[in-house]
Amino acid sequence: MIKNNYLYLLALLFIVSCSDNIENTEAVSEQETYKWRLVTAWPKNYPGLGMAPERIAQLVEQMSDGQMQITVFGAGEQVPAFGVFDAVSSGSHQMGHSGGYFWKGKVPAAQFFTGVPFGLTADEINAWTNRGGGLELWREIYEPFNIYPIPAGNTGTQMFGWFNKEINSLDDIKGLKMRIPGIGGEVFKRAGGIPVTLPGGELFTALQTGVIDATEWVGPYNDLTFGFQQAAKYYYYPGWHEPGSMLELLINIDAWNSLPKHLQVIIETASKAVNQDILDEYTARNNTALVELVNVHNVQLRKLPDDVIAEFKVIANDILEENAANDETVNKVYQSYKKFKDGVSAYHKISEDAFVEARND
Ligand code: CA
Repeated sequence: MIKNNYLYLLALLFIVSCSDNIENTEAVSEQETYKWRLVTAWPKNYPGLGMAPERIAQLVEQMSDGQMQITVFGAGEQVPAFGVFDAVSSGSHQMGHSGGYFWKGKVPAAQFFTGVPFGLTADEINAWTNRGGGLELWREIYEPFNIYPIPAGNTGTQMFGWFNKEINSLDDIKGLKMRIPGIGGEVFKRAGGIPVTLPGGELFTALQTGVIDATEWVGPYNDLTFGFQQAAKYYYYPGWHEPGSMLELLINIDAWNSLPKHLQVIIETASKAVNQDILDEYTARNNTALVELVNVHNVQLRKLPDDVIAEFKVIANDILEENAANDETVNKVYQSYKKFKDGVSAYHKISEDAFVEARND
């Protein structure tokens, strides 16, 4: 009798576990899959910048077990480099990857979310964005354009760029046509230069053919791949105009709202991982590339004179204050950014800055 009951229970358990398996299988096969397109402002598979969206796409596909697949397009493949914001805003593409300062004509406050002259470094802008109220402001200013932004990569401190003449005073800037985007470009203009904004992929030809006299791009790791060393002699630092440029993943808000919660969490988490990973890539590769530029290609490395940097800083602060006084949204973001910068610089002065000074002495 006991044995019969035992067999009965075993049979019952077997049936229950089978039906469980059937339900699970059905649940998986009924899951909706998402195939999205992502347009970028970078050449396809470009080291650093361009690998950010590629790695996000790969992580999202793996983490979602294939439920979400994102196809990444380089600049010009589906939309021009500077058409990324409009493509995502209109919904023609669900996602984009770019730098916020490219959209200064439409959203002047967006520049704070890439970087501004003499502003936050990579660690600092991450802290302001993720822990200092920056991200909430960023989402607020992109919301009217139907775009949800996520931090997605950082170049670290950039180089001032490539010149065919020495810069010994502001007089050497006068009339110089240089590719330099964002507020850095405004500073350059007020110092007497002629700033232009061109996509990365067009810079080498523009420099080599004399369409521009000088260019900044990113730093040694990226600049070496574009071959600027064949078109310019002097390589200037520091990159006062881009102290730690943050990259952005743009998502059309309607598309974002159509996603189940777990896929939203996967995209946010993958972007967070890649935001750090790209910075690590630059930190690990820049010096090797610099050594090659100097030792193999005989590039003349130059530091901008201190008084030129000081003059750029005065002009940059004037422009930031003026832009804030002229635009309520810019002012709101600027006040948050400035307050954070003042606080973090005060602490970094006696922590990281003091340590690095001690280490390098
Ligand atoms: Ca740059």
